[in-house]
Amino acid sequence: MPSDDTYKSILKSNGLKNTKRRNSILEVLTQIAQPITADQVFLELQKQDVSINLSTVYRILDKLASKGIICRTNLIGDNKSLFELNQMNHRHHLICMGCKQMLAVDDCPFEQYGKLLQARTGFNITGHKLEIYGYCRNCKPR
Ligand SMILES: [Zn+2]
Ligand SMILES: [Zn+2]
Repeated sequence: MPSDDTYKSILKSNGLKNTKRRNSILEVLTQIAQPITADQVFLELQKQDVSINLSTVYRILDKLASKGIICRTNLIGDNKSLFELNQMNHRHHLICMGCKQMLAVDDCPFEQYGKLLQARTGFNITGHKLEIYGYCRNCKPR
């Protein structure tokens, strides 16, 4: 698990001041290690006795997302954003439309294709997102 210093240098390299609240939010996202909503971040912080209010959580998440430190994902048919750390070794998720659970997939099908695309178009690809929708074993589509 990264130390406080890691968060500090992440914030600093993105031109953000290192604050306790920003650190706490990054720590929560590291601990949970899967995409969660702002409400869930808020609940975790409360469990850890960090004094913060929900609108501050939203504001900090927005800020971190705008700097690319965290990723925001909006699920189809759901207006809640999910947030997760923007990791170098990122993962993709299988998302069940039935029970809404997200299963992490460790490998990235895009890696080779991305290189090809970059060579072909000259576009400098800095990242990508991919969510795969469907139904898990327990949920059958109607
Ligand atoms: Zn399911
Ligand atoms: Zn990928």
